[in-house]
Amino acid sequence: MLGRTHLIFGTTTTLAAVTFFASGLFPTAGSHNLIYDLQGTPHTLTVPSLEPIVWLALAFAAAVGSLLPDIDQPGSLVTRIPANRARDFRRAGIRYGGGPVLGSPARLTVDAVSAGGMVASAMLGGNSGRQRGPYRLLLIVLAILAASLAAMFRWLPPRQALTLSAHTRHSVAFLLACIAVVAGLIAAGGIAHLINRLPGHHRGFTHAPAVGLALTAAGLILGPSLFPALPGVGAAFGIGYLTHLAADAMTIKGIPLWLPGQHRPSLHLLPPHVRVQTGSAGETVFNFVWPPVLILLVVLTGR
Ligand SMILES: [Zn+2]
Repeated sequence: MLGRTHLIFGTTTTLAAVTFFASGLFPTAGSHNLIYDLQGTPHTLTVPSLEPIVWLALAFAAAVGSLLPDIDQPGSLVTRIPANRARDFRRAGIRYGGGPVLGSPARLTVDAVSAGGMVASAMLGGNSGRQRGPYRLLLIVLAILAASLAAMFRWLPPRQALTLSAHTRHSVAFLLACIAVVAGLIAAGGIAHLINRLPGHHRGFTHAPAVGLALTAAGLILGPSLFPALPGVGAAFGIGYLTHLAADAMTIKGIPLWLPGQHRPSLHLLPPHVRVQTGSAGETVFNFVWPPVLILLVVLTGR
């Protein structure tokens, strides 16, 4: 399925599931202590008591979970989001705040934030081949930055280099190491390119149900400890991730049954003649079918 289908299907289904499991509205589901932190303390999640900010966090966690499995495909939506949002931010910033004045503090802030988005996307693997140009340019800029930092360090007069405090030396070394890691990742094509080289390639390990369940368990266990003020975010992330696998299991290609391998059968949730071709009219039909089905499920199970 396409990224936008996963995003909308995953986030909506997850919020519906959280409402269902956590709501006191449904006597059968009750108010569950579904979420335990590392000490085993139950965290009760009751929907009517949730603050708007928690709902936002739940939606965000679900959105991240619903897009993350496609981190195995260079140029997928999850890898392009930072650069796309940075581009929007830059356009809006220049129009409404920064203005066209190069070098003004507002414009510098806008440019720095949008450069951060470009770097994040390049590290995730946002270059799908046809958009390599900007990422190569970024790599050259990083190389020049590293070279000038090293040169500054190397070509200082000996006495001055010696008088640099240990703190400064460590900071420069740390900065160089960071630039090396970022540049190395970008040169390798980003995380998506690295995962795509693993057996199974796209729809390989990140689409394996075992990996999805392990990440969901990790979300349930670690969520309350990492985000104590945001109950349910770990669960929302895990459910969002599983919705992605479920949606891809409705396509013709399916997902790995166990771990990826060429001779293993794949997992399908639909009979052969109704499986969806990604990006086709079938996917549009899918997008018209799931909302009423979801509403029906919530209504029927809630009675
Ligand atoms: Zn996928």
